[in-house]
Amino acid sequence: MINEDTIIALATPNGIGAISLIRVSGKNSISTTEKLFKNKRNKKLSIQKTHTVHLGNILKDNNELDEVLVTLFKKPHSYTGEDIVEISCHGSTYIQKEIIDLFIDNGVRLANPGEFTLRSFINGKMDLNQAEAVADLIASDNESAHKLAIQHMKSGFSNDLKNLRDELLHFSSMIELELDFSQEDVEFIERVEFKKLINKIINELKNLIDSFKSGNVLKNGISVAIAGKPNAGKSSLLNTLFNEDKAIVSEIPGTTRDSIEDSLIIDGIKFRFTDTAGLRETNDIIESKGIEITKEKIKNARILIYLFDANDTNIKEIKKDIDSFKRDDLQIILVRNKIDLINNNSELLDHLTNFEIFEISANDIYSVSKLKNKLINQIEILSPYTETIVSNSRHYEALSKALESILEVKQGLENNVSGDLLSVDIRNSIKYLAEITGEITNDDVLGNIFANFCIGK
Ligand code: GDP
Repeated sequence: MINEDTIIALATPNGIGAISLIRVSGKNSISTTEKLFKNKRNKKLSIQKTHTVHLGNILKDNNELDEVLVTLFKKPHSYTGEDIVEISCHGSTYIQKEIIDLFIDNGVRLANPGEFTLRSFINGKMDLNQAEAVADLIASDNESAHKLAIQHMKSGFSNDLKNLRDELLHFSSMIELELDFSQEDVEFIERVEFKKLINKIINELKNLIDSFKSGNVLKNGISVAIAGKPNAGKSSLLNTLFNEDKAIVSEIPGTTRDSIEDSLIIDGIKFRFTDTAGLRETNDIIESKGIEITKEKIKNARILIYLFDANDTNIKEIKKDIDSFKRDDLQIILVRNKIDLINNNSELLDHLTNFEIFEISANDIYSVSKLKNKLINQIEILSPYTETIVSNSRHYEALSKALESILEVKQGLENNVSGDLLSVDIRNSIKYLAEITGEITNDDVLGNIFANFCIGK
């Protein structure tokens, strides 16, 4: 998969900026730059030390294209493990393009998405889990996703996997030992040890697999559906949450016919809110479609904010709605809105004693901020990062497959299956773990992973 080409890409975002950074990696990166760059002090670039910065001009046909800073990273002390030149130029789109074209005219090729990180992986600078964490770090837009990515980049997870792998290798050598002594009495004692070890490994794998639920949520956000009857104040709540007129607020019931989505970061956690069409019986075809979508949104949500009007409370209706949405993995917050307008004729809420009722005024920032706190308290996954949290679905699948193989081993031990058959499943589980860190991989897997990176990373 790796090739000898020298590659180039813009590492900073496309468009105008104060400064842009262009990155060149590969065996010809320094020699090509030397041809195109005139050092202010007339120093020869190729004989300069690694990690040094040089001021000069990029020349095109002997004309000055831009005054730039060139930073040298000599192999293996670079991100990719190859010679790298980083050119900091002025952030004009014209200059960016001209410099890149100039290098391409001199035999350098435009990098593919993620190719710098792919090279870093292939050159052993990081394992595959860490490479994926680089993409997560760049994509992180909130504190928890950022923490997770940093944790994976620091190889905490890779170490966990290494420990698991070592345990499995130890286990497999014990099995082989048993094969060697299969005619003797040692077998029974060994098998008791095997079972202990296998249960320990199963537990460790299960913990990692279970953490995916939290990891996925921390990385991608917690989906919160806001639902309730038309006019309950759903759009008003969303607007106050986001402090802008995102949804159309009106006194005519049924205004929000499509769902509206946006994310909000509260205390470092990303929440993805969906304001939905009001829930009511209707003959309006478009509105019923909206209500269908609402139900679908609630199915995919982790938290449901069910809003009702303090002065228009129909306990039966609320109970019916809530019963139809109840799910083990859905947290429902019952919110009684418009408490600023409350009159004492409001129906008593004793019938809803199973639920805590949260009272707000959707138009009032202070009252909505209390609801934000409630959302944070609702998420028990906010426990400190004491253990590794898996956040990548590829890792989740590999761990699940490793667990399946280990459960086969456990079953085999219980049924006194022969050691050589047990070995096959152990080897399989080791293989699945190795896929996560990339010790075992193939071009298709790598292609898929790195295609999701941006160009220049
Ligand atoms: P939706 O259909 O559930 O999205 O309801 P809207 O957000 O469009 O609100 C319906 C009406 O109730 C609008 O006139 C809002 O201004 C009003 N409203 C919403 N929340 C409150 C509140 O807490 N207090 C008061 N006084 N009016 C509210």
